[in-house]
Amino acid sequence: MGRRGWLVVGVLLLAVLVGGVVAVAVVVPSGPRGVLAAVGSARTTPPSTVPTPSSPGPDDVPGQIAYALEAQARALVAGDRAAFLAAGGPGGGPVAAELNRRFDALRALGVTGYQQRILTSERRDSPTEHWYVLIATKYCLGPPACDYADVQVGSYWTPGPDGVRLTGLLKSPLFGGGPRPWEVSALHVRRGPRVIAASGPAYAGRLPDLSARAERAAAIADGFVVGSVNPPVYVVFFGSPAEAKEWFGDYGKEHTLGRAVRTGTVAIEVLVDVEGAGPDLDNVVMHELGHVATLRDLTQSQRPEGWLAEGVAEYIGNNGRPISQYQRRANVRRYLAQTTGSAHSILTGTFPQLGKETWKVDAAYGIGFYCVHRLIERFGRPAFLTFFAAAATGSVLGAGEKTFKLNWPDDVAEDCIAFARNAVR
Ligand SMILES: [Zn+2]
Repeated sequence: MGRRGWLVVGVLLLAVLVGGVVAVAVVVPSGPRGVLAAVGSARTTPPSTVPTPSSPGPDDVPGQIAYALEAQARALVAGDRAAFLAAGGPGGGPVAAELNRRFDALRALGVTGYQQRILTSERRDSPTEHWYVLIATKYCLGPPACDYADVQVGSYWTPGPDGVRLTGLLKSPLFGGGPRPWEVSALHVRRGPRVIAASGPAYAGRLPDLSARAERAAAIADGFVVGSVNPPVYVVFFGSPAEAKEWFGDYGKEHTLGRAVRTGTVAIEVLVDVEGAGPDLDNVVMHELGHVATLRDLTQSQRPEGWLAEGVAEYIGNNGRPISQYQRRANVRRYLAQTTGSAHSILTGTFPQLGKETWKVDAAYGIGFYCVHRLIERFGRPAFLTFFAAAATGSVLGAGEKTFKLNWPDDVAEDCIAFARNAVR
């Protein structure tokens, strides 16, 4: 009604860096460079074939660091805090607080796989010898078949009489998908059947309720999985406005209440701004888990058009409520009233026009919602999901004609927009 429409931007940030060596090193799980410390296994990351480093010589600083990283990864998965901290020296040394927080958070999140390897290492001699090492980290939260996520962490190491010691850890950079919540926050976690729900200290008391909401949302999202395999688990971080800004990096000026962030080849993690979402919290969680269910099985280059990707997430978020109560209705009406052209051009044209005007963003999501609603109503959910997968890997035109055996522009798209016009009248 009078309530301001909320924006949910489901854009997937890719945790794969751009540019030559780095991108290759991240994408290839066990490349020839560096040493991969492999613990655990998942279908997305085969166990390392790189042999375990053994007894690096006293002058082989990178070798010693690789050795320490592997021991640390094993210690984390085994739950051995002392061994995890040992990289920094007994008790963790100068990085004790950092290491303890990461250990606690990752253990609480149910880490079952963790790998660290040196991506780049650089000796620096000022003021004294130390090494800057970029660590390629893969982590897997939840059941052993979970999806591996990637993150790159900058670190400092200092050689000494007792061997090389970890002396500094940096937050992972924005261009790599931003810092993960477990890097920067003390996390409270509830692990349910389908969802790992986590929050910072501010919402610790609300976590039972937030977890229950996320479980209900997961049950709904599971009904829209594209592909043959359900996500092993959904990972949802509930943040305060400040945490939502820091976790996974500042997402610019857009007012985003939720994000589904692709953190690995398959892994997608969800971030929700609890305060921002307010009374729409359930819709936001369902919307974002809807992105996970529908996009997880696709590769980065397989992207459905904006109206389709957001439309299905909106449909899942709406969860069967009457379309007469749909909150973007007024802005859809306004948009359609001043838009001409074919239905197909309206559908494909809404998202590229996104920009400064909030109401147009609202309308774009809403037009997607009405069209997805109509497609599911008309052809059934299984056929719609088949169409969605085909449209993501090919084109809407081809997928529509193949799946529905109808001419897409004239027989499907026109019907979608006619339905939307009627619904918002
Ligand atoms: Zn979205």
